[in-house]
Amino acid sequence: MTFQSTLEEIYAEVRPMSGEGEVADYIPALAQIDSTKFGIAIETIEGECFQVGDAAERFSIQSIGKVFNLALCVGIAGDRVWDRVGMEPSGNPFNSLVQLEVEGGIPRNPFINAGALVVADTLLDHLDNPNEDLLDFVQKLRGSDVHFNQKVVNSEKQHGHINTALLHFMKAHGNLNHEVDDVLDAYYHQCSIEMGCAGLARSFLFLANGGVVPGTGARVLAASQAKRVNAVMLTCGFYDQAGMFAYLVGLPGKSGVGGGIVAVIPGKLAIAVWSPKLNSHGNSVLGIKVLELFTTRTGMSIF
Ligand code: GLN
Repeated sequence: MTFQSTLEEIYAEVRPMSGEGEVADYIPALAQIDSTKFGIAIETIEGECFQVGDAAERFSIQSIGKVFNLALCVGIAGDRVWDRVGMEPSGNPFNSLVQLEVEGGIPRNPFINAGALVVADTLLDHLDNPNEDLLDFVQKLRGSDVHFNQKVVNSEKQHGHINTALLHFMKAHGNLNHEVDDVLDAYYHQCSIEMGCAGLARSFLFLANGGVVPGTGARVLAASQAKRVNAVMLTCGFYDQAGMFAYLVGLPGKSGVGGGIVAVIPGKLAIAVWSPKLNSHGNSVLGIKVLELFTTRTGMSIF
């Protein structure tokens, strides 16, 4: 089956909506991105690739990197990851301090910022070079080179006061083992990974393929672990819009404030969209629309 014509049709139909939303400007390095960029890519587990628009251009994957962070951590620490972070939807913005206070410093899930910071802290328990190890891990998933954007790391370090506050808060509650600056360094590197839609879709194929990277056959996670990462993406991948994403799209997925969204159809494919303008939940406006149309037209969702 070829998806090329479906992608081209949806691209043309959705493009006129590109006035909606705002580029994330609380991270100054992201505010400089051309907001008209728009790309879509599909990679199948059989090795087919379909692309349209700016699908090859690299962008800051931001919170999509939280999935790599979690997968690496689950592969190393197994179920112990869940000792310090929950697995319930937050129903709150990704950087909420309020919920963390009410819940005694235990983040609701690994995809809000507080949760990803705890996962990064857990990785520091096990790894001497967490940034290099994360890069190696993502390169193994993608099958080619992956880079951090140092400008984005520096920009986040200068302006990420809420993340610093979340960490101090968790430290005060005994839910942080390492120094705040060390955890921030690991977390901001994870957020600053750059990839294009095609590379991003390829690097998520292991989640469509029971934890095994198609092509190389490398097992990254046990099948049950991959299933669970997908479950957490479905319930928590879009913060306080997770319910609506499941309703409109019906796939496990993850967004980032760089404007990327990647979603997985287990047993078949991964699809990534990039359009920098975000809705009030921090999710790409065109990204959600593209995925809604894709699953509706093809009839392919997990439901
Ligand atoms: N680096 C961003 C932050 O910490 C990630 C947020 C996101 O993509 N939702 O705020």
